This record gives sequence, C-alpha cells and structure tokens, in this order.
Amino acid sequence: MAFMALYTRVSTQEQASKGISLENQLERGIKRAKSLGLDWIHYEDAGISGGTIEDRPSLKKLLEDIGAGKITHLYMYDIDRLSRGDVLQWYALKKIFKENKIRVYDDLVEIKLDDEGSMLMTDIKQLFAAYERSKTKSKIIDNLRDNAGKGKWGGGEFLPYGYTKDDNKMLIVNKDEVDLIKLIFKMSLDNIGIRVISNFLNDKGYKTRTGRKWRDGTVYHILTNPLYSGKRRYKGELLDAPAIVTEELFKMVQLNLTKNRSFKTDKKYFYLLKGLIRCPQCGKSFYGRKRADLKDKSYTCLSSRYTAEWCGNRGIDIDYLNGVVINSIKDLPNHINKFFDWFEKNDMIIRVMRDIHKYRMREKELEEKIENLIDVYSDGEIPRNILNNKVKKWNEEREEAKTKKEQLLPQLGVLDKKDEILKDFSNRVKNVDKMEDSDKQNLVRSLIDKISIQWVPEKLYHLIVIEYKVDNLSNYRLSYDKEVYYNGMGWRMERKDALTKLEIRQIGSEVYVNIRLK
Ligand SMILES: [Zn+2]
Repeated sequence: MAFMALYTRVSTQEQASKGISLENQLERGIKRAKSLGLDWIHYEDAGISGGTIEDRPSLKKLLEDIGAGKITHLYMYDIDRLSRGDVLQWYALKKIFKENKIRVYDDLVEIKLDDEGSMLMTDIKQLFAAYERSKTKSKIIDNLRDNAGKGKWGGGEFLPYGYTKDDNKMLIVNKDEVDLIKLIFKMSLDNIGIRVISNFLNDKGYKTRTGRKWRDGTVYHILTNPLYSGKRRYKGELLDAPAIVTEELFKMVQLNLTKNRSFKTDKKYFYLLKGLIRCPQCGKSFYGRKRADLKDKSYTCLSSRYTAEWCGNRGIDIDYLNGVVINSIKDLPNHINKFFDWFEKNDMIIRVMRDIHKYRMREKELEEKIENLIDVYSDGEIPRNILNNKVKKWNEEREEAKTKKEQLLPQLGVLDKKDEILKDFSNRVKNVDKMEDSDKQNLVRSLIDKISIQWVPEKLYHLIVIEYKVDNLSNYRLSYDKEVYYNGMGWRMERKDALTKLEIRQIGSEVYVNIRLK
C-alpha cells in the first residue's frame, strides 16, 4: 500500500507569532494526498525548533518508515519544515529520499530529486562529508567518555579482578571475587608484604582472572589501583565507580606500601641505569661495577677496564646518579610544563597560531555565506545558475583556506595534547618511589633516551646530561643538565653556582633555549 507521509512542524517561535498553523499544514497535505489518490500518515513535530534528527521523534519515525518501505510520497508545506537553516541536514535527508525513491512534495510542487542539478550536489558533497566525518568522530569520543562517566566499562578495556559488567555494560562488583580483593587489602593493611600475599593466594589455589598464578606485580597493581576505592582512572580523569574498599582504607594501604618499601634492603645490587649511559669522550657505554664491600660502586666507562685503553673519563657513584636521575624524572612533568611555556611564547608558534586562526575564520565565513545563499535560493529570490556559480567559487576558496590551515596544524598539534601529555607524565612518574626495581627501570628506560657523564678534570666536576624521550614531542629534544662538583679529596661538594638547566632544542633547526632550573 502506498502511503503519503504528511510531515508538519512549527517551531516554538513560529507557533507564538506568524507562520501557518499545524492544522492548516495538515489540511493542505490531506488535500494533496487525496488529489493523488493516496492514503496518508501524519507525522508531527510540534513546538520543536530545528535541532538534530534525534531531537525530532516524528522525523525519526518517518525516516524509519521510509527505510521499512512504508512510504512512497512525502508532503511538506515547505521544505524548511524539514531542516530549517541546516543545509547539511537537508542534503542528508534528500539523499535518503532519493535512495528510497520517495516523491517529495513542497506544497503544490513536486521536487524532482533526480534531475536536481548534480553540480550543486557535488559542490556540497565535500562540505557534507567533512562535516559528517568530524561529527561522527567527536561523537564516538564523546560517547566513550559519556559511557565511562555513566559507569559503563568499554569493550576493549581489561576488567580488573573483583569487577564484572552487567547486561548494560555497567561496571559492577563481582560477587565471586570481591572477598578476595577485600582480603588482599586487609592483609596489606596488617603489614603483610606483597610477596607473602601472592604466595598465600597461590598456596590456597586461587587463580587470577586469566587463570594464572598470582604474581607480586598483580597484587601490587590491585593494592595501588584507585578503582577499588571507587575512583576509576579514565584518560587522566578520575570517575566514580563502585568501591570495594573505603577510601580511608585505600589511603592507609598506600601509606603502608611507601613505608615498607623504604625499609626494604636489597642484598643484590641493582644497576638501574644499565645500558643508558654513554661516554661522550670515547663513545663507549658505561657499566656498573662494585666491590664486594660496596665501598666502591660506580658507573664507569668500559674503556677503563684496561688501563691502556682508558679514555680518561671518570666514573660516578651509582646511588648518587640513580638519585639524580629519579629526581629528574619526578620533575619531568614540571620540565614539560616549562617546555609548553616556552613553546606558547615562541615567535614562530605565535605566527602559526595567528595564521591558523585567520584561515579558520575565513572557512567559517565562507560556510556561512554558502548557507545564507542557499536560504535565499530556496526562498526563490535568485536563479539556480547564480547559486551554482557562487557556491562553486566559495567552496573552492573555502577548500583553499582549509588546506592552508591543515598544513599548519601539525606544528601546533602538540598544544592540543598539552593537558593530556602533562597528565600522562604525572601519572607515570607519580609512584616512582614505591615501584619495584624492575618497574622503576622500565619507567626510566621509557622516559630517558640516554645519559651522558663527562668528567672535567680542570674544574673537578662531572657534567650529567639526561636526554628525555617524550613521545608526543618528537620534534623537540628536552635535556636536563647538572654539574656535580668535587673537592680535592674527591668528595662531592654542594656549590651554589653549580648549574642545573633544562635545554629545549627543535630538531633540525637552530631554535633552542636554555632554562636555568636552580
Ligand atoms: Zn670513555
């Protein structure tokens, strides 16, 4: 059976003042349907102003019915009933009508969708595609964030022990696992070490979610994951989640972990910076060496193993250098912040920002011009060929501005990520003092490209240079320089004028800056 859809809508404003009433629109529509010998279905969005299709339930229903093949004809008193002022939406709708071979009536006139000049379509298509793409993309991101905010747990994320998802993908406490989580926290609160806890769990035959044995790292991750106290980490944010232990208990456990760690004595010597130190004098690596009594423990140039080959560079105390490196890592978020301060004030960057803004405004201006012109056209005030020519010309200009803007954007890309980068680094280095040696070493290796140690005999000092690797700042090199002075006896000395600085260098250009830190 062939139905004509009669779509009527008035916005709140129109209802209040001018415009044709819903009853009149409907009346005219019915007349039209009858004259064509068709039955009709009425769709009405009353008092709803424009907005998206989602905001207009009847329009949504109409599109569903079209999809289901129920509708063959569509009547509107005026096209702007469908998509007032929203050219893009209109083109999207038109596409649907065309694909479903709907005959569309603009009051008395049938709009021939098929011989509608393809010119205009092609011109607008790009605009439409770009718009759709950006909208879909940001929608997906927004959706994920919204879902997380509502307490949903995404498909790709690993579900921590103690939790599960309900039918609506909401994160909920897993009744079968919750007691074990509580027990782990309780044990840690009673000062039972991580190793003992994991052994206990394995002895009792408990398995992890993946069916494996409990490892120290797994237990540690549970004890330090704020999710268990009802704070879910999500891309640098903390969102509410169902808690398994109280926040107070969680905090006490964190305190305990820090305290216990500092009492721990490692019998085996751990070379934290193994493989990271290079000798600027001869290019060889440094290696860690110690005497059994630990009186002499240093990172030293490989060349020193044979007196004849020694490059003359002197080694540096292991604990001291480890400390300097760990402290510099803790300061890394500050250093990156300083990078951004500099970056934002850099002349070159300011010029780029200004140009991007200029092109962005130009793009917007042209988009508005096109939309306005199409409005004027649909009011019948200008002929088609003028519309086509202008739209074509403006679209070309808009594309040109867009291309220029997009060519500049990568230079600024890093600024958009500023907060994300800073949060990411803060999170990564936050627990460094509590970490197991191997985790600490992994962290150091992930953040530091290389370390150079240069002995300057005339002035009795070591120059330590730490070159960071910061994933998102691959066009820049950040390095931390520190001078360490010694007295004539070989003891380290505090010297107020000893230099500590941050150097930022743009790779492949002359742009660089030194920032004194102390
Ligand atoms: Zn050397």
